[in-house]
Amino acid sequence: MPMTSDIDVIVHEVGPRDGLQATNVIMPTTAKIEWIAALKDAGVPMIQAGSFVPPKLVPQLADSAEVVRAAKAMGGFKVSALIPNLKGAMNALEAGVDLLDFVMSASEAHNLSNVRKTHEQSIEEFLEIVALKGSDPAYAGVMLNGTIATSFGCTISGPVDPKTVFHLVETYIATGADSISIADTVGYANPKQVGEIFTQARAIAGELIVGAHFHDTRGLGLANAFAALEAGVRQFDGCLGGLGGCPFAPGATGNVVTEDLVFMFEAMGLRTGIDLDRLLAARDVMKSHLDGEPTHGAIAKAGPPKGFEPATVQP
Ligand code: ZN
Repeated sequence: MPMTSDIDVIVHEVGPRDGLQATNVIMPTTAKIEWIAALKDAGVPMIQAGSFVPPKLVPQLADSAEVVRAAKAMGGFKVSALIPNLKGAMNALEAGVDLLDFVMSASEAHNLSNVRKTHEQSIEEFLEIVALKGSDPAYAGVMLNGTIATSFGCTISGPVDPKTVFHLVETYIATGADSISIADTVGYANPKQVGEIFTQARAIAGELIVGAHFHDTRGLGLANAFAALEAGVRQFDGCLGGLGGCPFAPGATGNVVTEDLVFMFEAMGLRTGIDLDRLLAARDVMKSHLDGEPTHGAIAKAGPPKGFEPATVQP
């Protein structure tokens, strides 16, 4: 993995989690591991290998512990996992993750529907996870990220007050988060709103990383990523092939497309540490195990422009 100083923008591939949880197929464990190995070969610095939720709720990710262990054994990149609660955190730590990604929705209605908790209850749970992580020196190097889902709008309650988002940023920091992610879970955001919210959130967070998580549901994924970049954001989630469409809107686009995101940054002279050709090869590996699930993305169709010179220099 390139040193952090060789990277201007961190691209966090969340396909094996956010992507797969929205697909109809259950990708075999060996296929997930093959895909993650291909992502590593492309130089992806951080990969979300799974989610520690009850297997009954998300059967696609029931093998997360095994996938995390295999990813950790590869070395060379950070392995993250989503955790909805304390039990998930215990299992993720036991599997050996580098980063725990706790999720709470800015929309309280969405939080109740997603993790069956009020904000207050989610924060109590977060505090227990902070205590758990602090209880064993073996976990000292593990990062705890606080994600704020539905920060730009919610399918249940509509518009979300930015003040709620800022309050949750403050709360996460006050209770022990190492970094924050602000997520447009349902693809409602627009670039103006993104610029305003990230500018303010970064002012609150100071030195801490504030990452961005966008969905391309309404075609604004890359525009929103650019707006966040302009607001100083340097960490972005994406899914190869834009996996992660809404299960209730067949054919709808999913997460912002990782390879298009990497192309945009590299074309702008920002180093991601990722080799675009190898990333497209990893996309082929993924697709070969997806049984015809829809994928998206422009670079995979058109290829880079003639004479394209990426900012990342490969050894
Ligand atoms: Zn998402």
